[in-house]
Amino acid sequence: MVGFKFFTKMKKIKSIVTGGAGFIGSNLVDRLVKEGHTVIVLDNFVSGKRSNLSHHLKKNVKIIRSDISNIKNIDKYFRDVSYVFHLAGLAEIIPSIKNPKKYFLNNTLGTLNILEAAKKAKIKKFIYAASSSCYGSPKKIPTSETEKIDTQHPYAFTKFLGEEAVIKYADFFKMPNISCRFFNVYGPRLNTTGQYGAVFSNFLTQKKKKRPLTIVGNGKQTRDFIHVDDLTNAFIKLARSNLKNKIYNLGSGKETSINKIANIIGGKKIFIPKRPGDPNRSCANISKIKNDIKWKPRISIIQGIERLFQS
Ligand code: UDP
Repeated sequence: MVGFKFFTKMKKIKSIVTGGAGFIGSNLVDRLVKEGHTVIVLDNFVSGKRSNLSHHLKKNVKIIRSDISNIKNIDKYFRDVSYVFHLAGLAEIIPSIKNPKKYFLNNTLGTLNILEAAKKAKIKKFIYAASSSCYGSPKKIPTSETEKIDTQHPYAFTKFLGEEAVIKYADFFKMPNISCRFFNVYGPRLNTTGQYGAVFSNFLTQKKKKRPLTIVGNGKQTRDFIHVDDLTNAFIKLARSNLKNKIYNLGSGKETSINKIANIIGGKKIFIPKRPGDPNRSCANISKIKNDIKWKPRISIIQGIERLFQS
């Protein structure tokens, strides 16, 4: 008898990451590839960079230049896709006040476009990157998901409308959607080129150029900083879970002042005027996500800063 062998190739899990060339997106792509997924990245390369993904092989990561606000013929990319991680969108508050319509097109209409494509493809899970800015200056700290919504600028409003669409689609069409309200995410590949830099982006550049760290106001204001590796861990767990139609805070659950960060980094400081609408305190209550997926943040702010400034 002639011997023969069967070569059965395991079909790889396919995921889409919108905004996959950006800071958080590219870290998520790394993690998904590690988990054995093939990833399709949809990115318009306005703030994302090809260099963030250049270490990946073409067979693992397919990069498509496309703008989610004006997307044609995208359905073909969603064929056989199991997971959609929708991270694309415009960030930064001040430009959103100057050009609110652009933010509506990207953050709200863009989200609808991706939801529609995901709905047609009958994907397994849709995870949306929402923003903790929906709470404005919350009364209760740590803030839980049930806190009053108080969007104070077009960026917060358009991201929140995106979330509403994600949750309504879960309701109307029984889609497996989850929205995660990001607190302050930091880690490798943080965008350091934006005009209105996030605190870690500015401090990284300033430290590199041996300039003083710019402290806004008196530096006593606090934020909840979550390391991007903790965040991508939560995403993987949420994707694998049976949960749907849920909203989760995604933060570290710890409050850290800007002064504390500047002291950990060390060096000279200068104080600059307070930004309009800059909340004094921000901290996530993360009990819900901790209970539902048995996740917890593992990287302390000190470890995270050490990693960031070594890389
Ligand atoms: N901040 C600062 N120095 C900077 C940039 C920001 O002290 O160079 C402060 C900022 O005023 C805010 C906090 O750091 O109170 C976090 O700012 P970021 O823009 O990173 O996040 P967000 O305000 O959106 O939470």
